[in-house]
Amino acid sequence: MAQQEDVFKKIVSHCKEYGFVFPSSEIYDGLGAVYDYGQMGVEMKNNIKKYWWDSMVRLHENIVGIDSAIFMHPTIWKASGHVDAFNDPLIDNKDSKKRYRADVLIEDQIAKYDEKIEKETAKAAKRFGEAFDREQFLATNPRVREHMARRDALHERYKQAMNENNLPELRQIILDEEIACPISGTRNWTEVRQFNLMFSTEMGSTADGAMKVYLRPETAQGIFVNYLNVQKTGRMKIPFGIAQIGKAFRNEIVARQFIFRMREFEQMEMQFFVRPGSELEWFRKWKETRLKWHEALGFGQDHYRYHDHEKLAHYANAATDIEFLMPFGFKEVEGIHSRTDFDLSQHEKYSGKSIKYFDPETNESYTPYVIETSIGVDRMFLSVLCGSYEEEKLENGELRTVLHLPAALAPVKLAILPLVKKDGLPEKARAIMDTMKFHFNCQYDEKDSIGKRYRRQDAIGTPYCITVDHQSLQDDTVTLRHRDTMQQERLPIASLLPAIEEKVSITSLLQKL
Ligand code: ATP
Repeated sequence: MAQQEDVFKKIVSHCKEYGFVFPSSEIYDGLGAVYDYGQMGVEMKNNIKKYWWDSMVRLHENIVGIDSAIFMHPTIWKASGHVDAFNDPLIDNKDSKKRYRADVLIEDQIAKYDEKIEKETAKAAKRFGEAFDREQFLATNPRVREHMARRDALHERYKQAMNENNLPELRQIILDEEIACPISGTRNWTEVRQFNLMFSTEMGSTADGAMKVYLRPETAQGIFVNYLNVQKTGRMKIPFGIAQIGKAFRNEIVARQFIFRMREFEQMEMQFFVRPGSELEWFRKWKETRLKWHEALGFGQDHYRYHDHEKLAHYANAATDIEFLMPFGFKEVEGIHSRTDFDLSQHEKYSGKSIKYFDPETNESYTPYVIETSIGVDRMFLSVLCGSYEEEKLENGELRTVLHLPAALAPVKLAILPLVKKDGLPEKARAIMDTMKFHFNCQYDEKDSIGKRYRRQDAIGTPYCITVDHQSLQDDTVTLRHRDTMQQERLPIASLLPAIEEKVSITSLLQKL
């Protein structure tokens, strides 16, 4: 684990060193949990967004996109339940003065029981070798049985406390489980309090009677309040979806782990409107479709798992997360929720406008049910980086840091490198650049030895480099170097484009879906 944390620290500094992610307002010592994307980061982020957008809007005839405003009428957040219930239970340690989410402390404790069970099992597997029967061991070993019983009891108690919003009980669980603050090591805890995560500001001058407005904590409500506009103007027939990418803001209590939990972040959300009664079938379909989207990136199936929700939000009748194996464990990257007709009904109630759909197939009017897929761009970005980062030991003993980014997401697709800075090689290289730049992002680099230049490209995940040498002047060929294998081949300049373009385009990913 310590080793994995080390890797994570390296990824964070790599992000800064190579222009992927910078702490926001850095020259003023930064701003908590706010980050800026640099010259490489923005390219990769745009590629991720394009992959998502095209997979939704281009591949599905019945999904369209919108771009709604961040500011919305404040009653929307009353209707959606965010004003009253978008809270996290927080608790402070009186000695370290550190603040925690009570639910996270308890969930970590549950995970600790799982770790203990896993440890016992691994130990036994080693002892018994070939003859080891995992199922039987889990069913019979007294120590494992005890861990399981304690874990399940804790789970039950926690679930009930969360469902009942029972804050004293959450505190009692923390005390009973003897959970200590990782900083002070003490169990000197305050009461548990609810904390609303929405940021607010004022719109209009005070003289006019300013209105309190919120920075949206999710993009979804912008879709719900435009449901009628899109359905009518787009002549959409149920089932259909509306997709949106945009900023969201949450005043997170504990902002840790780099861009995993930010106060300003970006979401890619799609709300899919279906006939009541068909929602669970659609929920299953979207679960599969979304996992496939992740898996097409090629990090391997073992990097993903579903996590079904214990505590369903008040509006949901099914919910699952897609988790990615980060260096700090499996973590949520995307949520898929069956939200029933909660949101549309609430907006109908609060706005007084009818949001019914007349279904020509059944001759019925109803409020559509909704399946939501909601993914954080930044978390996705982090998962791609974590899945790609490698410190590779080469045969000659050297270490190279390489990002094995899926080519379609890499910020730079092709580096164009003249072997030396003279003899007409730079001019030849520039001429190639001038044709390639219309097709994908290229970088021209003539500084330092060719080996150093390759390393710089490896570090930003450039899938291809070409070297222009003296032979290129004679026969119009170049060496093409592949990032992952480091193998080189000689190719005519004329065949570069067909060789590379297909592999680096978003289309190559979309075709796997
Ligand atoms: P968590 O339990 O981690 O707080 P959540 O369940 O509240 O997340 P949702 O409300 O389902 O998250 O939001 C959908 C997606 O938005 C998440 O899967 C995640 O990728 C992203 N997201 C949510 N909060 C943040 C944040 N503070 N920073 C970055 N991304 C976030």
